[in-house]
Amino acid sequence: MYPAPFNYHRPGSLDEAVGLLAELGDTAKPLAGGQSLIPILKLRMDEPSDLVDIARLPGLHFARSEGGAIRIGALATHANIGRSPLVEDIPILGDCANGIADAQVRARGTIGGSVSSADPSADWPTLLCTLDAEIVCRGSNGSRNVPMRDFIRDSYTTVLGQAELVTEIRFKVPPANSGGAYIGYKKSAPAYPTASAGVQLTLADGNVCQQVRLALGASGPRPVTSEEAENLLRGKTLTQALLEQAAEAIVEVSDPPSDSRGTAGFKRAILHSLFVKAAHRAMERAGGSRIVGRHEYV
Ligand SMILES: Cc1cc2nc3c(=O)[nH]c(=O)nc-3n(C[C@H](O)[C@H](O)[C@H](O)COP(=O)(O)OP(=O)(O)OC[C@H]3O[C@@H](n4cnc5c(N)ncnc54)[C@H](O)[C@@H]3O)c2cc1C
Repeated sequence: MYPAPFNYHRPGSLDEAVGLLAELGDTAKPLAGGQSLIPILKLRMDEPSDLVDIARLPGLHFARSEGGAIRIGALATHANIGRSPLVEDIPILGDCANGIADAQVRARGTIGGSVSSADPSADWPTLLCTLDAEIVCRGSNGSRNVPMRDFIRDSYTTVLGQAELVTEIRFKVPPANSGGAYIGYKKSAPAYPTASAGVQLTLADGNVCQQVRLALGASGPRPVTSEEAENLLRGKTLTQALLEQAAEAIVEVSDPPSDSRGTAGFKRAILHSLFVKAAHRAMERAGGSRIVGRHEYV
């Protein structure tokens, strides 16, 4: 099906893009990589009057480490991030970026588009919760930083105002002896995960957990986090029994829907095992192992 007719705009700067969105009102939409929005338009699930194409705006395609922080521009594609030197030191980024869909989608889809879509199955929002990332948003009144954990309010709903754009994702460089892992359970490569789990931790001698952040994806309307599960691990020597206990605590607060990809009970079982597996991989990476991340396939 063809999309309904729309007016197309290609602003030359961020200021112009934000100004246009404000002027055009709430029937206008930004267009980045188009990998989520164009299928929605073709299915006529949305019929915006105007598309403001931001894909070529200058200065938003970077992915770099700067002054103790990682800064990723909203227009960095999944492929840009997966191939960036950041993946060497923060391998959980590679698990996510290189595991999204296929090469075509990774070449065009952007991290800013992924967090803004707030698809409950999307990989970046879950992953970014484990890194305590902040989303930098820019509107006509200036910029504000929103923690990833507060950015998504509900399925497909964020805190973004109508004329507000995501411009950057930021988080602190993880300290020494840190490691993370993100694993999705997928039917095939170009499919969203049925369930996913991310673990980012910092270890002291003897596998003592100094810091930890956990998140589950495709497990409810927004990424699932659990301070209770994190508190079970923080300050303790990580054992299989403790990881199983933390898995139970975080899966307990998940709410995966029963759908064509599986029943809620099936997904909870998958989430439990993905979580434990991701925790082991994160521990090995914190210990210096250079394990290449892979999703689990049906
Ligand atoms: C076949 C297929 C398989 C896929 N599989 C996966 C998968 O396994 N995992 C996964 O995570 N994703 C998957 N995706 C989605 C893909 O990652 C998209 O690239 C991403 O969700 C949206 O990014 P985009 O740049 O294409 O955004 P667009 O499609 O251009 O925009 C998406 C939405 O976000 C808004 N928007 C875009 N950029 C901004 C911004 N900077 N500020 C504010 N609003 C903005 C748009 O207005 C629109 O509402 C898949 C897509 C396809 C087509």
